[in-house]
Amino acid sequence: MRGPAGAPDGSVRPDTPALVDSFGRIATDLRVSLTDRCNLRCTYCMPAEGLDWLAGPDVLTTAELLRLLDVAVTRLGVTDVRFTGGEPLLRKGLEELIEGTAALRPRARISMTTNGIGLARRAGRLRAAGLDRINVSLDTLDPRRFAEITRRDRLADVLAGLAAARAAGLAPVKVNAVLLRGINDDEAVPLLRFCLEHDYHLRFIEQMPLDPQHGWNRAEMITAAEILDRLGAAFELTPSHTPRGAAPAERWLVDGGPAEVGVIGSVTRPFCEACDRTRLTADGALRNCLFSQSETDLRGLLRGGASDEDLAGAWRATMWAKLAGHRINEAGFAQPIRPMSAIGG
Ligand code: SAM
Ligand code: SF4
Repeated sequence: MRGPAGAPDGSVRPDTPALVDSFGRIATDLRVSLTDRCNLRCTYCMPAEGLDWLAGPDVLTTAELLRLLDVAVTRLGVTDVRFTGGEPLLRKGLEELIEGTAALRPRARISMTTNGIGLARRAGRLRAAGLDRINVSLDTLDPRRFAEITRRDRLADVLAGLAAARAAGLAPVKVNAVLLRGINDDEAVPLLRFCLEHDYHLRFIEQMPLDPQHGWNRAEMITAAEILDRLGAAFELTPSHTPRGAAPAERWLVDGGPAEVGVIGSVTRPFCEACDRTRLTADGALRNCLFSQSETDLRGLLRGGASDEDLAGAWRATMWAKLAGHRINEAGFAQPIRPMSAIGG
């Protein structure tokens, strides 16, 4: 894939070590995909047969990942590292990777987004290794629907994983939910009740055009406005006073608080102007946006003998070329070639 061009408006990058872009945003939040593989097959994310997985030698090793994380934290001002995938719990040596990340200085906040399968056994070890926070994806509380959406009968494992995460002190445990029209869109209120009861922080995410089947359909998408409407029928929602910063979720106090619910309106209420993300795929491709059409091959540089400063320079140039926004709502929008599971959600 081609590498990034310069700034969209041709302006010159200021001499700063930070990951600035030409719109004045600074990326401090690194999303790292640890594998493109998954043990679920969520219909909106993957076909039943899975995808053409990356070949083993193409995936960055733990040592290579730690080298890039070191560059990110010590040279580029990254303060937050989130491990994702595919399913990050499938990655061999995950605890070792977290331990290595936690040993870097300055110490970054370390989080993970997971489907929760197998978390019940590992939450304590992950916490001990240095994991600070966790997001678990849960779209339904109904076992049959769970099996329909994920094509696997594993709801009980996810619920056990959530409880174990909370018990291990990975607080606040966040829950991510995607609502699909005619499938689980009647579960906004039950999901919120469940999360309030267990002290999990729930965030609904609008479905984005990132599926390999290209099945996303704007008219079918459950919008942030619809989600708020449904929640509003059962709860009193008032805007949260906590500053949103670069967080994608708009937060609402539930029945006066202190409990909150988040809604991420990636499509209908884009937050690109506050974006602070930089992204690394499992095969070492650096992306400045989920929807980017270009990538920088950091693995090639790394394996070709690049110095830390070479890597940092390539990273800065990639982020400088970041576009203003994702363009989903513009005519001529084209989905990126990689699907969500191969970029890292
Ligand atoms: N396997 C892990 C999990 O499911 O949490 C991590 C990777 S998954 C791609 C990360 C998040 O992206 C999940 O919460 C999932 O529901 C969400 N997701 C996947 N495809 C999506 C899409 N097209 N639009 C919005 N969210 C999506
Ligand atoms: Fe796997 Fe996560 Fe995609 Fe579901 S959303 S198929 S759990 S990567």
